[in-house]
Amino acid sequence: MHVFAVMPDDPTIHALEVPTPDPEGRQVLLKVLRAGVCHTDTHLRAGGYDLGSRGTMSLKERGIEYPMVLGHEVVGVVEKVGDEVGSVQVGDVRLIYPWIGCGTCRQCREGHDNRCAAGKNLGVARHGGYAESILVPDEKYLVDTDGLDPSWAATMACSGLTAYSAVDKILPLDPDEPVVIFGAGGLGLTAIAILRSRGHRNICAVDVADRNLESARVMGATDTFNPGTGDAAALREAVGAPAGAVVDFVNNGATATSAFEILAKGGIMVQVGLFGGEVTIPTALLALRMIRIEGSFVGTLAQMKELVRLAQRGEVPTIPVVERPLSATEVSGALDDLTAGGVTGRIVLRA
Ligand SMILES: [Zn+2]
Ligand SMILES: [Zn+2]
Repeated sequence: MHVFAVMPDDPTIHALEVPTPDPEGRQVLLKVLRAGVCHTDTHLRAGGYDLGSRGTMSLKERGIEYPMVLGHEVVGVVEKVGDEVGSVQVGDVRLIYPWIGCGTCRQCREGHDNRCAAGKNLGVARHGGYAESILVPDEKYLVDTDGLDPSWAATMACSGLTAYSAVDKILPLDPDEPVVIFGAGGLGLTAIAILRSRGHRNICAVDVADRNLESARVMGATDTFNPGTGDAAALREAVGAPAGAVVDFVNNGATATSAFEILAKGGIMVQVGLFGGEVTIPTALLALRMIRIEGSFVGTLAQMKELVRLAQRGEVPTIPVVERPLSATEVSGALDDLTAGGVTGRIVLRA
């Protein structure tokens, strides 16, 4: 089968031919129909993450295997099943949960696969969806998205799930307490939509691109702020009062510093983005203001199922999705566009 892969220290996406896996036991092989393109893929292609003064976290040194086939927002059609598979059959269309843990540690037993220390995520440590087919290690990771547009459904495996899980960490709040969302790309827009669908009425979106802020308004943001046109004091003014919560989908030194500055006593900052950097926080203020800081990375299988159910009930407004063909050139182009920040909503590659 064809895969569109990344090699170490090389930003080119290579079209390679690899053996098609044969599913065994509870494994399922799916033909890829849609593969969403995530900002995380740009960091994976670049080979690591910016850890501020600690340098860079190198994926090669962390033992990631190459060629690496990215793509973790995948909808596929079941092509072949292992001999113990009972819940799906050939021809079924399914969304794949990619954040796969070891299955035996405490976090996995409690349903937090995404917190597993030995996790092997699809599209990172296992071959992902920028390929003709994808092997899923257990049928339990397949979710029926009947009734949903497959391109939109694909985005629920990461973008949607990440937004859902982050919003889950700040609720319940008073519906009129200010919430600030840093970053109004695909994730931020989804978070705004989910906040609205869960009854929240006071949402300020912050982004350096005015057209993203316009999309944020359409999704239900009540205020918007472009940090290119004003400082932290101007942001505080735009928000109107100290924020009960911040969800930071950028999470660089500047946004995390602003998040800390604008929070109310007892407020929570949920740090999601992987743009990297670091932040200096006065520790006494952290205590006096009782600020909670929580990191958030994707979400659980149960949360993804819950998000799909909400979407099927019509309670999650769609985000803008741009479809492009699935090819090595398009994978490369999509990653370039995301790196440059020139995309509103989500790119989904279509086989
Ligand atoms: Zn992602
Ligand atoms: Zn585990």
